[in-house]
Amino acid sequence: MLDVLVIGGGLAGLTAARTLTRAGKRVRVLEAAPEVGGRVRSRVVDGFTIDAGYQVLFPSYPAVLRQLDLGALDLVPIPPSAVVRRGSRAAVLGDPIRDPAGLLSTLTTRVLPLGDKLRVVKLAASLRAPAPHTLLTGPDESTEGYLRRQGFSDVALDVFFRPFFGGIFLDRRLGTSARLFRYYFRMLMDGGAALPRAGMGAITAQLAQGVDVRTDTRVTRLVPHGEHVTAATSAGEIDARHVIVATDPDTTQQLTGEPVSRGSVGSTYLHYAAQERIDPETRLLLNAEDGLINNAQWVSSGVPGRAPAGQHLLTVSVLGLPELDDDALDARVRGELSRWYGQEAALRLRTLLTERIRHAQYPQPPEYAATLPGHATDLPGVLLAGEITSMSGIQGAMESGEKAAAIVLGDLAGMSRPRGA
Ligand SMILES: Cc1cc2nc3c(=O)[nH]c(=O)nc-3n(C[C@H](O)[C@H](O)[C@H](O)COP(=O)(O)OP(=O)(O)OC[C@H]3O[C@@H](n4cnc5c(N)ncnc54)[C@H](O)[C@@H]3O)c2cc1C
Repeated sequence: MLDVLVIGGGLAGLTAARTLTRAGKRVRVLEAAPEVGGRVRSRVVDGFTIDAGYQVLFPSYPAVLRQLDLGALDLVPIPPSAVVRRGSRAAVLGDPIRDPAGLLSTLTTRVLPLGDKLRVVKLAASLRAPAPHTLLTGPDESTEGYLRRQGFSDVALDVFFRPFFGGIFLDRRLGTSARLFRYYFRMLMDGGAALPRAGMGAITAQLAQGVDVRTDTRVTRLVPHGEHVTAATSAGEIDARHVIVATDPDTTQQLTGEPVSRGSVGSTYLHYAAQERIDPETRLLLNAEDGLINNAQWVSSGVPGRAPAGQHLLTVSVLGLPELDDDALDARVRGELSRWYGQEAALRLRTLLTERIRHAQYPQPPEYAATLPGHATDLPGVLLAGEITSMSGIQGAMESGEKAAAIVLGDLAGMSRPRGA
């Protein structure tokens, strides 16, 4: 009999399993998909290394600092500034917080009114002092409401906050909890954003090292017997003293009966190959105009190994799940890219992959955290992990795995660590 069965090999399940394995427990992870990683994976298509969607690592996430060997991930920092695109016009928006040169370019750029530039500096100063996890507490409201209360103009919201934080929360309306906005803003201040050279999947691979994982194995039912739990799976039954359910929220609800489903925020990604260097830009490209594109990045300009020699990789993020077939979606996105780069260049792009991710995050409106489930369930011996117990992101997933492991181990310090710490 296993000591602990972990269901789901995403960041939450792998973090829990690795912690418990290192503590000497007999642990196994069952993963329904052919590979581990859940939402954090990379694949190779025609020699291009493509991450699932477009996502980045904030190296200052506390759980990341505890769990990952960042040196081994060979992180490539994403430049601390962005390019605001309005058709063929491109303006650099520096990061006044982490980059002194960014302060200069932000203060001199014309895309933001002077008052907004000063408000960014003031906002950063106010978020720098508190312990980061305390930014997840206190009064809540929407990110838009919070930014307006700080005095930011419509221009600042439209050219910067909507595309930039819209890309992080997958919500251009900025309806996401302001507590999360403040926490993520602070994480960016503390450590910026980066991409592992070999792809975001390197994070998953590192967590999975030394863990007993069985892929292609779906758990369909859990039956508690008091001293142990039987899991019915697509590969037969398996018994364990403890079970940690670390799946997506809908599956967690099906398996445990706990009312944890909160719906899904979906997003769509188009990955293009180019034979010539259309744009040498390594920075994030933010679309300040109406359209399907929210943000884009020439991933291979910053991380050359992601494309075969002499070729280039462009990843375009479209928020939501547009009701267009792949060809119509591609035509619309190319139409918008042709306003950036000209029609000829846009037409020469080769589509590598179009991804529609139904559950990229769960919705996190103001006060969402007031009703977060804990780790206990009504099924004896069965615990919850997964971002649903914390926040929809890498920190939330990893800290949930740590916490579920701490409960099994009776590790009081781990159990009482605040959310986000
Ligand atoms: C496009 C995109 C962009 C994102 N951007 C960011 C970002 O910039 N920063 C950030 O911090 N976060 C970001 N996130 C969110 C982050 O990736 C997730 O919060 C995190 O990976 C969730 O991890 P998890 O382990 O909780 O869940 P998952 O990764 O969903 O893992 C659950 C696993 O359970 C498996 N499973 C499901 N049912 C069963 C079953 N019955 N039996 C066995 N296994 C099962 C699934 O196959 C899956 O592997 C983004 C996510 C996406 C998709």
